[in-house]
Amino acid sequence: MKYLSRIETWVTKSTLSDDGWSEIKPFLLLKLTTDSGIEGWGEAFTLPFREKGVSEIIHSLVDAMASIENLTPETFNIKAKEIADKHRGIDFSAATSAIEMSLWDIFSKEEKKPLSYLLSSKPKAKVSVYANTWSEKCPNNITLGQRAVSLMSDGYQGIKIYPLQNRSLSQAKECVAHIRNLIGFETPLMLDLASPDDDNLALSLAPLIKEYRPYWYEEPVDGQKIRSLASIRIQTGLKIVTGEKQFEIPHFKEVLAASAADILNPDIAAVGGIIDMTEITNLSAKKSVTISPHCWNSMSVAAAAMIHFCISNSNTEMAEIYPEYISHALKFCDLGFKIKDGYAKPKDRPGLGVVINISSLMAMSSDYKDRKLN
Ligand SMILES: [Mg+2]
Repeated sequence: MKYLSRIETWVTKSTLSDDGWSEIKPFLLLKLTTDSGIEGWGEAFTLPFREKGVSEIIHSLVDAMASIENLTPETFNIKAKEIADKHRGIDFSAATSAIEMSLWDIFSKEEKKPLSYLLSSKPKAKVSVYANTWSEKCPNNITLGQRAVSLMSDGYQGIKIYPLQNRSLSQAKECVAHIRNLIGFETPLMLDLASPDDDNLALSLAPLIKEYRPYWYEEPVDGQKIRSLASIRIQTGLKIVTGEKQFEIPHFKEVLAASAADILNPDIAAVGGIIDMTEITNLSAKKSVTISPHCWNSMSVAAAAMIHFCISNSNTEMAEIYPEYISHALKFCDLGFKIKDGYAKPKDRPGLGVVINISSLMAMSSDYKDRKLN
């Protein structure tokens, strides 16, 4: 293949986080190498049991890229849309996200500039970050409260909790009250309902928790249910967040047209790529809807892309961090960013700025594919 000479993909093994808080899911990382030896890293968002499937899509798409004259993130974006034929699915969309991310890494390394300087002439210095407290262990209120206080002392600017996880409506209220009392009213408290099937759950919970002033109400129903989202937004008066598992610009246009959200949280490793993410962000700005990216990813490659993206666009606010994933990521990479006092700032390096230790990544992976491209 012209320009690209090699593709490698890794799927990391699932493991318990160092602090025991949660089981860290497998991650899918991609490296493309050019004829001149420049390496571009990408990462695809994956849902359970699909990691190898998404990896296969990435390999097939990279083969299809051979027909692109003048390969750039933009020409790849056009080709990917052509191939998708208006039917992407999240796995295809995650695959294109990873490839486009690695092309951006390559192109900014060629320019010897951090990625944010390719996306903006004047990027912001930093972006605030909030902490996600998700754990499949269903922590009780006491444990969750201790976690929230500890994350606040680490400087995180907001705390996200899942009040309905394993709780009834009244227990959810108690949970929100407990956490709000511990962290005070100054700190944004985000409530993620994780898309219950029943619209009435969000409507029933809202009046119970309103006095605790949640900063936002995330996925009160699935992101595809645009009319329900719009209705819940009007009925509850809460700031609605949606978009983490959605993709394709037409979907986000519909959400905006229906006034179904106050904040969108597309995931840079799932939405299709940085170009689509930028368009969604610009369209949102026209409707006074902000972007607070979701990032249920490794906190290495995709998180670096998210942070470069956030500082490159004025319509972004707090970016999502899974705090316990960071020590996991540090086992195979030097992060491309620093988090200090609740703000993330990219390191002054070309591209995404992530430096991966290949032998460590290899040791932590359950699947590795390496192919020469000619
Ligand atoms: Mg969520």
